[in-house]
Amino acid sequence: MNTEFIEHVKKLLASPQKIVVVGHKNPDGDAVGACLGLSFFLNRLGHKTNVIMPNDFPDFLKWLPGCDDVIIHDAEIDKSIATINNAHVIFTLDFNALNRTGNMQQFLEDCDAKFVMIDHHQEPDDYAVATYSDTSMSSTCEMVYHFIDAMDELAALCVEVSTHLYTGIMTDTGSFRFPSTTATTHRVIAHLIEMGADNSKIHEQVYDVNSPDRMKLLGVALKNLNIMPEYHTAYITLSQKELDQHNFKKGDTEGFVNYALSVKGIKFAVIFIENKQENIVKMSLRSKGDFSVNTLAREHYQGGGHTNAAGGRSTQSMSKTISEFISILPQYKNELTDAS
Ligand code: 5GP
Ligand code: MN
Repeated sequence: MNTEFIEHVKKLLASPQKIVVVGHKNPDGDAVGACLGLSFFLNRLGHKTNVIMPNDFPDFLKWLPGCDDVIIHDAEIDKSIATINNAHVIFTLDFNALNRTGNMQQFLEDCDAKFVMIDHHQEPDDYAVATYSDTSMSSTCEMVYHFIDAMDELAALCVEVSTHLYTGIMTDTGSFRFPSTTATTHRVIAHLIEMGADNSKIHEQVYDVNSPDRMKLLGVALKNLNIMPEYHTAYITLSQKELDQHNFKKGDTEGFVNYALSVKGIKFAVIFIENKQENIVKMSLRSKGDFSVNTLAREHYQGGGHTNAAGGRSTQSMSKTISEFISILPQYKNELTDAS
């Protein structure tokens, strides 16, 4: 984080402000953890802070302190718009472009507030007056910790904020296993535990809350696993019908793509999930090593993310999406069959 960023933010926060903290559409553990953690911290500094999410977040995060006060834009649109229009400062966390906020985008673009971005995705847009962007970071939650540190306020870490930040670092690093997990990440985690994050309990609350339906849907996903050894690629499909048969709820497919990536020799994995309501096939892409799913998602699927984890979408049918996907793989054959 550069000193210019922190000086700018200190000036913005020099007197009590009305602040909104926003995460991305389909919020994950990092987005929800970072937004709640930052908002609790800012409230402790004397500001009045609201968290707004574009749409709902998964049940496995619905125990986080303060989660009941999060405004869901799609469900409470009038309240959300009034809160946005009332804000002096808007922190945008865990995304790099306002089009990642779904139906909130136009209201954010039209409001008078000053924006601050904290994010670890590649190629950030330039809408904020102060931007803290670092693609080497494990998670936005780790960046919020470094931000609190740069504000000389680590002593203000409470049990709640420690819990929020631990949760987001844990979920975004695949429980501290992805390459973005550094020695510093572990030092941050150690401090969060010292400040009150109950690590084992947090793991249980996030990961040991599967419904029988979700486990059976995982069974279907694993049956639908396709391996293309010549491209070191594996993919999974889930149709709307298969989701409906298992009473699909938001978050149920979280992590499924990692099973495809766990097959020996696989460097590139994708899950294709049909969404009839939005008329799209939503994709989660994962890779190992240098193969950039961010590049592939940007080039072909109106998406993006990180080198090893990205998302995107197709507006074609599932079968057309799959046949097109198979047809683009030869373009990447050299990268995928590289020894690295
Ligand atoms: P997931 O596959 O878990 O939804 O997302 C993986 C990563 O890619 C996350 O960091 C997420 O924020 C990002 N991501 C997911 N979908 C999209 C998308 O449609 N566009 C962009 N730019 N990033 C996405
Ligand atoms: Mn993140």
